[in-house]
Amino acid sequence: MSTMQRCAACRRSFRVRAQVRGTQRYCAAPACQRVRRKHWQRTKRRTDPDYRENQARAQEAWRDRHPGYWRTYRATHAHYTKANRAQQARRDAARRLAKMDVSTAFSPGVSGIYRLSPAARDDLAKEDAWTVELTVLSRT
Ligand SMILES: [Zn+2]
Repeated sequence: MSTMQRCAACRRSFRVRAQVRGTQRYCAAPACQRVRRKHWQRTKRRTDPDYRENQARAQEAWRDRHPGYWRTYRATHAHYTKANRAQQARRDAARRLAKMDVSTAFSPGVSGIYRLSPAARDDLAKEDAWTVELTVLSRT
């Protein structure tokens, strides 16, 4: 007997393969398998310092073997460069905002219970800063 599952990427239902251990969340479509690998890699990079370090080293070695690759890529892909700059500007703005909120709006005299909720949906690529909204639940 086989069970059906809904693909986490394309939302189409697919037949779960008996060979797959655990929960099979993605169908066999190449695009969905790419999404699965991307998620796996993102999680791995976030949770495994050895993996992260190894990836960084491998990328550095690749850059050394291909000098000028990114310079050429940027020169020939204007839309990529433009999107990248816009994304960085958004990250910079979010970071400035986060810093400003901590130093101005948050005085140590205001103790109480707060709810911390995400204020920006497009999360930062570098997750060393979050944009959040503080809601006062009660002041002490
Ligand atoms: Zn799929």
